[in-house]
Amino acid sequence: MSTDEDYLKKTGKGTRSVHSGTSPGENSLNTPVYQSSTFFLDDEAYEMWKAGTPRAPVYTRYNNPSMRAVEKKIAHLEGAEDALVFTSGMSAICTTLLTFLSQGDRIVTTRNLYGGTVLSLDQDFTRFGIDVHYIDIKDLDAVEEALKEKKTNVLYCETVNNPLLEVSDLPELAKLAKKYGAIPIVDSTFATPMGCQPLDYGFEVVIHSVTKLLNGHSDIIGGAVAGNKEIINQIWYKLRNFGGTMDPHQASLLERGIKTLHIRYEKAMTTASQLATWLEAHPKIEKVLYPGLESHNDYELAKKVLNSPSTMVCFEVKGGDEAGRKLMDNMIIASQAISLGGVESLISMPFSTTHVSWTQEARLAAGIGLGFIRFSTGIEDTEDLIADFKQALDRL
Ligand SMILES: *Cc1c(COP(=O)(O)O)cnc(C)c1O
Repeated sequence: MSTDEDYLKKTGKGTRSVHSGTSPGENSLNTPVYQSSTFFLDDEAYEMWKAGTPRAPVYTRYNNPSMRAVEKKIAHLEGAEDALVFTSGMSAICTTLLTFLSQGDRIVTTRNLYGGTVLSLDQDFTRFGIDVHYIDIKDLDAVEEALKEKKTNVLYCETVNNPLLEVSDLPELAKLAKKYGAIPIVDSTFATPMGCQPLDYGFEVVIHSVTKLLNGHSDIIGGAVAGNKEIINQIWYKLRNFGGTMDPHQASLLERGIKTLHIRYEKAMTTASQLATWLEAHPKIEKVLYPGLESHNDYELAKKVLNSPSTMVCFEVKGGDEAGRKLMDNMIIASQAISLGGVESLISMPFSTTHVSWTQEARLAAGIGLGFIRFSTGIEDTEDLIADFKQALDRL
């Protein structure tokens, strides 16, 4: 049943989350962990390897059935022809970008990206003579201007960014990229395939840090890339060369994690929406940033681009960073930790974590006000999470 790929492709995302990709071994229901670095070099495999065929089944850096199973699952969920998994989200991002960028090439992007991505663009890509051109991705005229003024190879953005939860106008950005011959690539970690399918909007590559919502259990690091066969093959050659391979045990955990993505996502989303509304009405809260609230700048755009707003809720507590710290300390259920998208709720403040190297001035200019808190909604009972916030705010 789970091997009938064409049938599965037409099913709902929940059914695909559970069944797509499963590669049973000897009479087993589940994909075994193929804990093997190498494979019998039969004639067919040898010929593929010699010819440089992508995914020659000879060695785990080239191909492994445990990884293949989860790649197929992710490809199905993104509506993509194929996918690749990596040892981390950063490995997926860097390997993909270095597939399409050589010395002298140009990438147009925004500074409002995952911090690690900006670090690598600034510290590594520029070192290789790649022109990293930052613009305001929310300003489509500025994007067009940048694409027009100089030949651009890659247009790169995120579906929903951190921590302002701004939404990128993916359909318009894909159109602009195509018009000027750039490859549109998006990091869709915050949205997941449940929230958005960027390939439907004309994006050519979609990237995930599967460390977050896709795996959803805060127990592995990993990355994934999805797109059409030809593009994924191109990226595969660089994965082979750079070696950011996922390992079979990691892949097996990821496969199990994704099986519940749809219900985890739905639960976290429902709670996040209720929590955002509850926080917005609370007298000790300065403001709430949640794309499902009418008060968010991207409320309309979110309805156009996303299937549902976000499992992240950001807000500013009155009393500034000190009050924010106190609020976090007061929380009983939510843990203070970086990362996001797990079954357990996590709380953090950008000023002391993701944006710790920024000056206060720069943070304020970027819209990260005093007392700014980021909440990753887990799948605990909604009323318990709201009660946790209530008691924590009461004690401020
Ligand atoms: C976490 C994250 C990454 C990096 O992923 P790792 O798995 O930590 O390497 C990239 N992009 C976004 C949006 C992220 O949240």
